[in-house]
Amino acid sequence: MQHLFARLFSIVNDVIGLFYPRTCGGCDAHLLKHEQNVCLSCLNGLPKTYFWDYPTNPVEKLFWGKLNVSSACAFLHFVRESKVQNLLHRFKYKGKSGIGFELGKAFAHTLQDKNWFTDVDVIIPIPLHVSKEMRRGYNQSAYIADGMGEVFDVKVRNNAMQRILASESQTRKSRFARTENVNQVFGLTNIDSVKGKNVLLVDDVVTTGSTLEAAGNVILNAGARKLYIATIAIA
Ligand SMILES: [Zn+2]
Repeated sequence: MQHLFARLFSIVNDVIGLFYPRTCGGCDAHLLKHEQNVCLSCLNGLPKTYFWDYPTNPVEKLFWGKLNVSSACAFLHFVRESKVQNLLHRFKYKGKSGIGFELGKAFAHTLQDKNWFTDVDVIIPIPLHVSKEMRRGYNQSAYIADGMGEVFDVKVRNNAMQRILASESQTRKSRFARTENVNQVFGLTNIDSVKGKNVLLVDDVVTTGSTLEAAGNVILNAGARKLYIATIAIA
């Protein structure tokens, strides 16, 4: 009898699995019980920067003389035609928002082990313009921020910032691929969310740094005590 129930239970689970398969966002393999969104093999195979092991790094250098950032770090090298590109593409454009949450968590665990960002008070993701967020259905950076916030046990303020001007999609600007749109304007909906606080600003990929520079300056001008920056990848 017990054997029959066990068998029945396993069949029911398999049927549920047919309708709600738990697969890796990176490689489509079935996830093991303890895995979520991205499998361990994908996570372990990512090209990490190891910037956290050095006194300064290429992300911080992008802001020298432009933005008074206390420290900045990226988790992965963005390599074309690689697992990173595949993961980030699915994360940004294919609705696989859980990938961002998982990468945010993995990055935060690494940083925590190395005593980075120990005095962060609030985490703010770089916002999309509201029209773009409506089209996509979500702000990808908010999922990274949520993953990091869970590990650091720090509040994430998704609506603390707004992007006032819509910037043209980066993907459509192939001729100017290296020039991020500098016309974007960021504004804070509530200055108290950053005033006197140590703020961690989060984005998915950093290239020239101009987006983070614009948003970071708004946060510092509003009276933030310290500014930190974290991105999942550096291109
Ligand atoms: Zn995988």
